[in-house]
Amino acid sequence: MINAKQIYKSFGNLAVLKGVDLTVARSEVVVIIGSSGSGKSTLLRCLNHLEKIDSGDIAIENEWMVQNNADNQAIYQPDRDIKRICSKMGMVFQHFNLFPHMTVLQNIIEAPITVKKMKREEIIPIARELLQKVGLSNKENDYPSQLSGGQKQRVAIARALAMQPDIMLFDEPTSALDPELTGEVLKTMQKLAEDKITMVIVTHEMGFAREVADKVVFMDGGVVVEQGNAEDVLVNPEHPRTREFLSRFI
Ligand code: ATP
Ligand code: MG
Repeated sequence: MINAKQIYKSFGNLAVLKGVDLTVARSEVVVIIGSSGSGKSTLLRCLNHLEKIDSGDIAIENEWMVQNNADNQAIYQPDRDIKRICSKMGMVFQHFNLFPHMTVLQNIIEAPITVKKMKREEIIPIARELLQKVGLSNKENDYPSQLSGGQKQRVAIARALAMQPDIMLFDEPTSALDPELTGEVLKTMQKLAEDKITMVIVTHEMGFAREVADKVVFMDGGVVVEQGNAEDVLVNPEHPRTREFLSRFI
C-alpha cells in the first residue's frame, strides 16, 4: 500500500528525515514511535504530500507519486495525479480541525460533496453509518463546540473515513485529549484495525501499540532505528536507543 524509500527532507539547514524507508502492506497497522522532533509528523506529512521531499521515492498502491532522478532529486508526478493518489489517504491530526460553524453531520458530508461530487442523499446514509461506527449516532446535529475532545476526534475520524480512503494516517490522535477520553478514541481505532483498514499511526500509547500494531517503527534523529513486530520492538528491543526511549514509559 505504501512504499517509501530513502526519504530525505530538510527545512533550511535542518535535516529532519535522513533516509527513511517505510513499507506498509494492505490491512497492516503500523505504529510509529519516537521522541519529540525525531521526524514522525514530517514523515506522515511527506507521505500525504503536505510536505515535499528533497529526495527519495514514494509509491501509494503501486503508483509512484515521487521518484528520484539520476541527480538524486525528487521528481513529482503532475499535480492531477498527486491529487488522485493522495485522495487514497485520509488523515487525522492531533487537533481535530473540525469546521466550527457546521454540525457533526455537515462536517462529515462536506468533503464528499465538494471534492468527490457525491450527492447529499448518497453520502448522508454513509455518514450516519460512520457515526454509528464511532459511537456518535445521537450527535449528528450537534456543533463541535458542544462535544468533548474525544467526541470531536471521533467525528474527525468519521470525516476522514467518509472520503473512503484506502489508508488512514493518524498523527498523535489522542495526545491533545484528557487521559479519560483517550480510551474511546483508541477503541475506535482498534475497531478500524479489526475492519482491516490499513493504518499508519504516530502515537505514544504503548499499550495500544502492543495490542493493535502489526509493525512498530522506532524513529530517532530522522532515521528508522528499529522496526519489527510489536512484541520484538516494544518488549525486546535490540537497539540501545529504543531501550532508552521505551524506558521513559515505564
Ligand atoms: P513530536 O513528537 O513533538 O510531534 P515529531 O517527531 O513529529 O515530534 P516533527 O514535527 O516531524 O517531529 O519535526 C521534526 C523537526 O523538524 C523538528 O525539529 C521541527 O522543529 C522541524 N520542523 C517540522 N516542521 C517544520 C517546518 N515546517 N519548518 C521548519 N522546521 C520544521
Ligand atoms: Mg509530531
